[in-house]
Amino acid sequence: MAQASFHSKHFLSDKVEHFTESVIREMTRQAMHYGAVNLAQGFPDFPAPAEIKRAAQEAIAEDVNQYAITWGAKSLRVAIARKMREWRGIDIDSETEVVVCCGSTEAMIATLLAICNSGDQVIVFEPFYENYGPDAVLSGAKPRFVSLRPPQMPDGEWSFDEQELRAAFQSNGSGSKTKAIIVNTPNNPTGKVFNRKELELIRDLCVEHNVLAITDEIYEHIVYDGSVHISLATLDGMRDRTITINGLSKSYSVTGWRVGWAIAPPAITDAIRKVHDFLTVGAPAPLQEAGAVALNLPASYYRELADRYRNRRDQLMPALEKAGFRCYRPRGAYYVMTEISAFGFANDVEFAAHLVKEVGIACVPGSSFYKHAKDGSQQVRFAFCKKPETLDEAGRKLEKLKRG
Ligand code: GLN
Repeated sequence: MAQASFHSKHFLSDKVEHFTESVIREMTRQAMHYGAVNLAQGFPDFPAPAEIKRAAQEAIAEDVNQYAITWGAKSLRVAIARKMREWRGIDIDSETEVVVCCGSTEAMIATLLAICNSGDQVIVFEPFYENYGPDAVLSGAKPRFVSLRPPQMPDGEWSFDEQELRAAFQSNGSGSKTKAIIVNTPNNPTGKVFNRKELELIRDLCVEHNVLAITDEIYEHIVYDGSVHISLATLDGMRDRTITINGLSKSYSVTGWRVGWAIAPPAITDAIRKVHDFLTVGAPAPLQEAGAVALNLPASYYRELADRYRNRRDQLMPALEKAGFRCYRPRGAYYVMTEISAFGFANDVEFAAHLVKEVGIACVPGSSFYKHAKDGSQQVRFAFCKKPETLDEAGRKLEKLKRG
C-alpha cells in the first residue's frame, strides 16, 4: 500500500495558525514548575465565600446533577435579572434575554460566533485581554485595534484618541463592515474604568454606524478611589444594541466553576443560545444553583470585596515601585500594569523568564496584550488578587531584583 508521508500539521485548521496558546496560563505552568509566587494568572488564592460553597454542596446532595436547561437554570437567570435591575436599573426578561454559559469566556466566543460573518470587523481596545484576539479569529472576524495610551502623569488615566476610535468605526475600504466593539470595563490589563463621557462617545458611534457593543463587565464590583462602574446597556439608545457579559468568577472568587452569562435582546439571545447549545450544552447545573445564592448576597459583600482588593493593590504597588517598576495605578479590576525599562532587559518575555526563574515571581509579559509584541515589550502585568501573605512573600523576593 502506498503511503503518503505523515505530517500532522497538514491536518490543522488555518485558524489555529493565527493565534498562540494563552501566555497567561503558560505563566501559571511556569510558576508551578519553578515554585514561584504566581502573580500571573488572575485567580484568588484565598477561599470562596462559605455560603456559596455550601449551596454548591447542597445542590449536589439534592441531586441537581443532570443537565440544567441548556440556556441556564431558571433560578440563576431570575437572580441575574433581579441583580441587573437592582444594580444597574435595567429590566431584562430572564426567559428571553439571558444565556448562561461555561464562564464569561464561553459567553464571549458564543456571542462572536452568533453575530459575526467572515470578514466582519470587531473593534478592540489595546492592550486587550488576550482572549479577544483568538475569539475574533475563531468567529471569522477581523479585530481592529484602538490604542489605550498609558497615563503620562503618575496618577493619570489610560485614554484613547477620539479620532482613532471614529476611524475604526468606518468600514476599512476592503468592504469589511464593523459589526461590533468589545468594551471591557473595569479593564484587564490596564485597570481603566471607562467614564460616562467615553461611554457616551462609544454609544454615539455605535448608533451612528449601526454597530453592536459587547461589554465584558466581569470586574464590575472591583472598583477603587471612587470610580463608578457604568454598564453601557444603561445609556440611552444602547439597551437594544448591547450584549452584556458577566460571570461568577471574579465577584465570588470561583474562577474554576466556569459559570458566566450573556444578556442581550431576544433575537441576539436566541442566536447565542443556539451556538452555546452546540458548544457546551450547558454550564454545571449544581454550580448554577449556587450562583443564584451568590447573586443574592447583600451589598455589603461587594463593598468588602472592593475594599479588600484596594488594600491588596496598595500593598503590592509600593513593593513594585521600590523594586524599580513604574506602576500604572489601576482604578478597577485586580491587575497592575507596569513599565520595566529600569531593569535593562531586551523585552518583556526575557524579563518575565528571569523573574519567574531567578526571583521566584510569575507575571504576564506585556506583549501578550498587544497585537505587535514590540508595543508591550517594556511592560508586564501583575495580579494582586492574593492573600496578604502571598503579596508579602512577593515583596521579599522583589528585593533580589537588580536594576539594569
Ligand atoms: N482573567 C484571568 C487573567 O487575566 C485569567 C484568564 C486566563 O486564564 N487566561 O489572568
